[in-house]
Amino acid sequence: MGNRHMRFEVLTLFPDLIETVVSSSIIGRARENGLLEIGAHNIRDYTENKWHRVDGPPAGGGKGMLIEATPVYNCWKAVKDSLPAEGTHRTVYLSPQGKVLTQKTAERLLSCDTLILLCGHYEGIDERVLEEIVDEEISVGDYVLTGGELPACLLIDCISRMVEGVLASPECYEEESIASGLLEYPQYTRPNVWHGKKIPPVLQCGDHRKVAQWRYDEAVERTKRKRPDLIADGIPPFVWKRSETYGTQRPETEDDRP
Ligand code: SAM
Repeated sequence: MGNRHMRFEVLTLFPDLIETVVSSSIIGRARENGLLEIGAHNIRDYTENKWHRVDGPPAGGGKGMLIEATPVYNCWKAVKDSLPAEGTHRTVYLSPQGKVLTQKTAERLLSCDTLILLCGHYEGIDERVLEEIVDEEISVGDYVLTGGELPACLLIDCISRMVEGVLASPECYEEESIASGLLEYPQYTRPNVWHGKKIPPVLQCGDHRKVAQWRYDEAVERTKRKRPDLIADGIPPFVWKRSETYGTQRPETEDDRP
């Protein structure tokens, strides 16, 4: 499903916030390996006044401040002009007024070569520049945050893990909660007995088909219980792929064998 490389260019007043998040862990490693290109551009560097002021009071009065159109447009234009002419480039405004992000949205955006992610702050951004540069608005949920930086990082993370090579294999995300159509089954690791609770013996029987069937049954049961809306149109069938290597828990010692 994934493509081989993806580029994100974030337009923000707080580039350090973006950099801190995307330089760690799996996303940070994928960047170092050239699978992801992530840039953070300070909108403040694109003002046309000597004080580098980016915000103004809302026309008509009211609370708070708005980011002006000019620095946002200049920043967007500079980034857009730096992109290769060929390829699919899309500009997304992170906004509580957008469509709420789902795995399906992330899968659709994965087909783009570049996503320019615009982060608002304060009371938001002058509508006129949004009309000119934004292809779509995405919200991360029905609540309001102080800025679009965390939503942008969330979107980058969600899409990036589907880029080829970022995770060990496509199964890592295809068989997870939501993407599989079900919530994921419960998982266990060492030790075999913890606070008197044993790992379910079926996970140690060595029969991969039995393990797969148990995991499927558990996934169906917990989806019914926790998120029945996910299966309102039907339950995805059990599919057994012989090539699958389901992890079995190896007993650590003879003593704690269940
Ligand atoms: N006044 C705006 C409104 O009522 O629609 C909200 C502005 S909010 C305080 C500041 C910025 O945070 C927004 O411009 C947006 O970029 C970001 N933001 C806040 N909540 C968000 C959400 N749920 N999803 C995505 N971005 C969000």
